[in-house]
Amino acid sequence: MLGAMQDFDLRVTHIIDHAAREHGTREIVTRWADGSESRTTWAGIRHDALRMTQALRKLGVQVGDRIATLAMNHSRHLVSWYGAVGVGGVLHTINPRLFDDQLEYIANHAEDQVLLYDKAFQPIIDRMKPRWTTIRHYICYDDGQFEDWIGGEDGQTTWATGDERDPCMLCYTSGTTGNPKGVLYQHRSTFLHAITGLQPAIFDFDARSVMLPVVPMFHAASWGLPWGGAAAGIKFVFSAVNDAAVLTELMNRERVTHSAGVPTVWLSMFQHMDATGASLPTLRHAIIGGSAAPRFMIERLMKAGVNVAHAWGMTETSPIGTTGAKTHDWDDLPFEQQVDIKQMQGRVPFGVELRCVSLDGPGEVLPRDGKTSGALQVRGPWVIKRYFKADKDATDAEQWFDTGDVAVIHPDGTLQLTDRTKDVIKSGGEWISSVELENAAVGHPAVAEAAAIGIYHPKWDERPILVVVKKAGVDATAEEIRNYLAQHVAKWWLPDAVEFVDDIPHTGTGKISKKDLRDRFRDYKLADA
Ligand code: AMP
Repeated sequence: MLGAMQDFDLRVTHIIDHAAREHGTREIVTRWADGSESRTTWAGIRHDALRMTQALRKLGVQVGDRIATLAMNHSRHLVSWYGAVGVGGVLHTINPRLFDDQLEYIANHAEDQVLLYDKAFQPIIDRMKPRWTTIRHYICYDDGQFEDWIGGEDGQTTWATGDERDPCMLCYTSGTTGNPKGVLYQHRSTFLHAITGLQPAIFDFDARSVMLPVVPMFHAASWGLPWGGAAAGIKFVFSAVNDAAVLTELMNRERVTHSAGVPTVWLSMFQHMDATGASLPTLRHAIIGGSAAPRFMIERLMKAGVNVAHAWGMTETSPIGTTGAKTHDWDDLPFEQQVDIKQMQGRVPFGVELRCVSLDGPGEVLPRDGKTSGALQVRGPWVIKRYFKADKDATDAEQWFDTGDVAVIHPDGTLQLTDRTKDVIKSGGEWISSVELENAAVGHPAVAEAAAIGIYHPKWDERPILVVVKKAGVDATAEEIRNYLAQHVAKWWLPDAVEFVDDIPHTGTGKISKKDLRDRFRDYKLADA
């Protein structure tokens, strides 16, 4: 016997229908790369997405075809998310910061049929066109070309229907080794993920919310914001350029209450505010994720009255995994302890399950004791099962997915990330967290960026060294930095050497590339080795 309730397919086109019907006049503002601005509404976004669906059908796009974008955050990109899924296609957001070989690989692997792109990325198109073998149509967003393309359509059509398990979106995640891997989201997983994002501890949206997402639409599904924001009917303010002065001005003028970005975004905002005396008086909710938020960042935002949601997730988890939800005793805790909690990666929302297993042997599930660190595994309805076109599942028989992160889970379920499995440093049989060393180091006033890597040592196997980029105009010696670290980490964790460099290598998604850094220091010899 089945339950007797309605068969309402969990397809993401319902989300835009809802936004247009219930929040139709709520604005979507875009500040374009050329400095101009435009305004539309959720009703306008839906109308344009329907017109794009008609235009795509005229190009011969079929259900299941991949429609790619190479674009920053703006209203036409948002239209394309819904237009692509509306035709029954799969939206493939490409990260323009990837290297050419990766760009070639992912568009061909995805078998993209159509590519919509910003004029700013024309050089990438010109370079890559001969290497992209499946793209039949290139459509530029700028100079009226997108409007011309959909301009002949009237929007009098319906969305493609189908199974809620149909794919709707494809995002590639570029590991530090091997080819990027595709994560193929379903309508159902995306719908459930959008609803989860509406929890106060995650996006904290209500009818008054005005969100400027700095997280790009091409990274990790933009944390689900284009879906979740529509479900909540919030006002979006997009900026097609990520310049701190532009963002600050926009946030103040449009009275932005919510923003989301990786820690480096907040860092550049702080630098701008310090230099100009600007502030963000209307901001009250900041989502920080993608890499660990340093303590001073959380503290500064909290002191300014901003609620910080320090979130952990991955492209493979849609990406919401955890967020810094308040604990039951939050209101009784002193400020310092509240910051301690926010500095960790928080707890799961309903739907996500986490566990840590031993790093040394296969399978042993570790206690949630706040001490024992292990390989972090995750499962849930919006967690990957199998990479796109892979011939076997990425999960075990019980659906656990190995995140590649190393973590401790506290008795109350709080997740504390300590490293990546490939980056932990093993010294004398014990693990040293490179991330904790880095987080401690960036608290030093002279340190702009720091990365810890393990160097071969004949006695200890590996010992850490710390690679540091100094802030302009501020000096410090290696010894001063070691003395500072000694106040924050165990003595045997102290790096054997501190090396100053002009730059630290980054991946296409802006994370420190430990692999490239290790390559740079391949022949490095420790003084006592
Ligand atoms: P991506 O799929 O590119 O978003 O990368 C996911 C990875 O980013 C995770 O596996 C973590 O290693 C890292 N990450 C994401 N959020 C956090 C966070 N709040 N703190 C530390 N690392 C994070």
